[in-house]
Amino acid sequence: MIDTTSLNAGLEILIRVSVVVFVSLFASIAPCKAMPCYVDVTLGASQKPVSEIFVFGPLQICGKTTITLNDGRYLLQLRGNALRLLASTGDKQQKRVYCVAPKMEFRGLRNSYLKIERGRSIRAYAGTVIVSISRANDSDNLLVSHLMLVNHVGKADYVAGVCAAELPKGARLEAVKAQAVLVNCMLARTGALAVLNDTTQNAAYMGVATDRPDVRLAAQTVGDATLCFAEKPIHPYFHSTCAGRTSRACDIFQLDRRSYPYLQSVECHFCQKSPFWKHTVSVIPWPQYAAVFGDCLPAVSKKDEAGRPIEVSLCTAGSVSNTRNLDRTIQPAYDFWMKIGQKFGWNVAPGNLFSFQRKGNYLEIESRGGGHGVGLCQWGAMGMAEQGKKYDEILRHYFPLAKLSK
Ligand SMILES: [Zn+2]
Repeated sequence: MIDTTSLNAGLEILIRVSVVVFVSLFASIAPCKAMPCYVDVTLGASQKPVSEIFVFGPLQICGKTTITLNDGRYLLQLRGNALRLLASTGDKQQKRVYCVAPKMEFRGLRNSYLKIERGRSIRAYAGTVIVSISRANDSDNLLVSHLMLVNHVGKADYVAGVCAAELPKGARLEAVKAQAVLVNCMLARTGALAVLNDTTQNAAYMGVATDRPDVRLAAQTVGDATLCFAEKPIHPYFHSTCAGRTSRACDIFQLDRRSYPYLQSVECHFCQKSPFWKHTVSVIPWPQYAAVFGDCLPAVSKKDEAGRPIEVSLCTAGSVSNTRNLDRTIQPAYDFWMKIGQKFGWNVAPGNLFSFQRKGNYLEIESRGGGHGVGLCQWGAMGMAEQGKKYDEILRHYFPLAKLSK
């Protein structure tokens, strides 16, 4: 029953909601012009920890002595308290060991990026990648070691990497530029000391998209431009598809009315080419739903001007339908939507423009849009760019009270 267009929506949605988590981490905000030159990004933060990876030459290992390795695939493994870099081919007993150290710093050579193979994915990284040993307790409280990878990368390469991960191939340059400005806002808010990760907790980042030279050009073109309100970089909220109208942050996140005055609700019919423009219909078996939310039908008790539910009425935990007086509580609809995604999969309701009804032994959920609906609508930005709009016009549409500071 899940609409096929919503496949991979999990990643999509996580990306869209990422900035919500991200921006809440930093209380003191730098002025508009402060921008880090370099960013440290912890790689593979959402992946299973590993004790070995492959790196591809030509590369340089920077340390007390610098080692240069030619073309080839090299195995980097964790052994005891040290990392060992050795040839990935050859007899097991006679593999050549190039380096043994507790920490290694790699960079690609001859104007090429450093390629790293981790699990099934191979990604390219600009700057350097520092590999060290991380120790943490596992679920059984046993101390385990694994590899820790941090990409020390120039700001422009990082911005381009995030834009490539956020927008699909074929996105017009002006839409990519608008996205780049929002990534700038994120960096301007964190400052130079921030250590980010490559998950949606901060922003999706998969290194250098070597097949997307356009995103690098966009990042270079906008430079350090940020969107500002009251001389401070704005909270750079964005989402995949609003499906008609964006929402005010204070409504969706149940905040004080004076919060985020620049995150207003604006009309948007530019996102009609999005796979999330049409509604998706999904079902959850009622017993599974009831085990999480209680054995009664949820009810939308308040909507905003875009039609997004703001509040829902739910049973309190432990309530069952054979109890005459079901205890109900009003909860933020955004929290309900997030919990649906976390418990039953993000494909069930890709957007928070949703409604539901009970059909037999199922809860049927109808959803439109992709993401939380606040800030920039990415498919809308791409639609505006297709109509010839410039990135500053796109940003002005979605953030009408914010000013572009170049
Ligand atoms: Zn839209």
